[in-house]
Amino acid sequence: MQSGSFRQPGLSVRSRIYRYIYEARGFCSRQAVANACGISMPTLYQNLSELMEAGLVRSSGEEQSTGGRKAQGLDIVPDARIAVGIAVSEHHLRLIAMDLRLRELAYRMLPFDLIAELSGTHSAELAAVLERFLDDNAIDRGRLLGVGVTIPGLITKDHASILNAPTLNLENVQMEALLRDIPYPVYAENDATASGHAECFVRGEMENLAYLSLENGIGGAVVIAGVPYAGDDAKSGEFGHICIEPGGLPCTCGKHGCLEPYITPKRITDGMGVTLEEFFAGAERHNPAYESLLYDMLRHLAIGVNNIHMMLDCKVVLGGFLAEYLQPYLPVLRQYVLAGNPFITNADFVQLSVVPRHITPLGAGLYFVREFIESV
Ligand SMILES: [Zn+2]
Repeated sequence: MQSGSFRQPGLSVRSRIYRYIYEARGFCSRQAVANACGISMPTLYQNLSELMEAGLVRSSGEEQSTGGRKAQGLDIVPDARIAVGIAVSEHHLRLIAMDLRLRELAYRMLPFDLIAELSGTHSAELAAVLERFLDDNAIDRGRLLGVGVTIPGLITKDHASILNAPTLNLENVQMEALLRDIPYPVYAENDATASGHAECFVRGEMENLAYLSLENGIGGAVVIAGVPYAGDDAKSGEFGHICIEPGGLPCTCGKHGCLEPYITPKRITDGMGVTLEEFFAGAERHNPAYESLLYDMLRHLAIGVNNIHMMLDCKVVLGGFLAEYLQPYLPVLRQYVLAGNPFITNADFVQLSVVPRHITPLGAGLYFVREFIESV
């Protein structure tokens, strides 16, 4: 959510109030809401009582005061509605239930093989997994806004079909084949695009940003002045397929030398046969084979980051499940970036995601959270 979105022209008073409270950092007083929204206190009270009756806003916290009666602040009710995000990947599903503040209410990862012709059984299986997840975590379906699903592949502008998902070996498949048995509103998005939107939403700033998603398939998203840039055909930010070594390692897309095969976590999990936890624990203990692979990945990641920065001249934010392990290696990555770019004096523009965990499934569900906030 862009900070200051309550100022957007054409919003109803009720909507401005809700958004202001949603975006407020720290204590939010009634007077501050009235001032910011340019409304009288009686108008504020009337709208607040409606929002409170609808269970969307509540009194929260007390103002630090040197004397007299303490004023109560305001907050939105975060779990007034719930969204579910499902990240589909090569061998797994990651499901998350989140509240309106994108806080994790429940999370589950489980095996799910989609590398075959998509059939009705996949859709039924996915729907069954979702229902079990809702049951096991006692998620109130009455508050469920919808289910966002991310796919590691190119999807059409209308979100109705998968154009090409190399890691899933799928091409030109109707999304319906996967989603038709889900009995809630559904929305499908590219995984890295959804994650980039989540990054942008949580930062809440009107900034330029390139998001690089480090999952098995490497993808990305471009955000210009706080607004996602999709491109003419919804294909922007496919950073995994920038060529960094002509004639180099084969890529899932059919070309050679793309960024993806050099920095995909599969080099660790498939190539070394260990989990990421085992790998990074081993690298920390200076296991020579692990260190050698890790630093090779970081060197190639730096080339990719520099190419992105050369094109866009903005923050390059690393997210996805591999990025969750990269904090200790950020300084060395920045050194590699700095060494490879003659036009910069520091590489502070390389940052890790501010969403510490599960950004992809969170991004999947974000669509419904945003839609709800904009509908109040
Ligand atoms: Zn490629």
